Amino acid sequence: MTETGNPLRRCGLRHTARRELIVGILRETRTHLSVTDLHRRLAAERPTLSASTIYRNVVILSGHGLLHHFDHDGETRFGLAHTPHDHLVCDRCGRIAELPAGRVGQALKSLILPDGFALTASAQLLHGLCGLCGDPG
Ligand SMILES: [Zn+2]
Ligand SMILES: [Zn+2]
Repeated sequence: MTETGNPLRRCGLRHTARRELIVGILRETRTHLSVTDLHRRLAAERPTLSASTIYRNVVILSGHGLLHHFDHDGETRFGLAHTPHDHLVCDRCGRIAELPAGRVGQALKSLILPDGFALTASAQLLHGLCGLCGDPG
């Protein structure tokens, strides 16, 4: 949970204000956002920052392993990759929760897969209903 030092500098990536802003928003919101979401949230601070610039930067950050992404609802969501985790997504409200990576990996090991099939996915996306939406009351 503790963040020591600057993650951008730690991975040798050129430190830019834009990248710093993107990482800052993802850290503050502690969730996974699409480029559209990021654009909307950054608009107040940086009205000149275009969605395509944000897109270019999240791709670079992903390439350096600082962010990871998955597709949900026709959009790519980007999140911080500092702690390995899988994703639980609520099909009703769209809330995304994180699950420490080892747990899904352990559960998957007990699966019997069709002949010759090997799992390679590293960012798992599990669908379901969150505690609020799944409540029968
Ligand atoms: Zn994630
Ligand atoms: Zn929900």
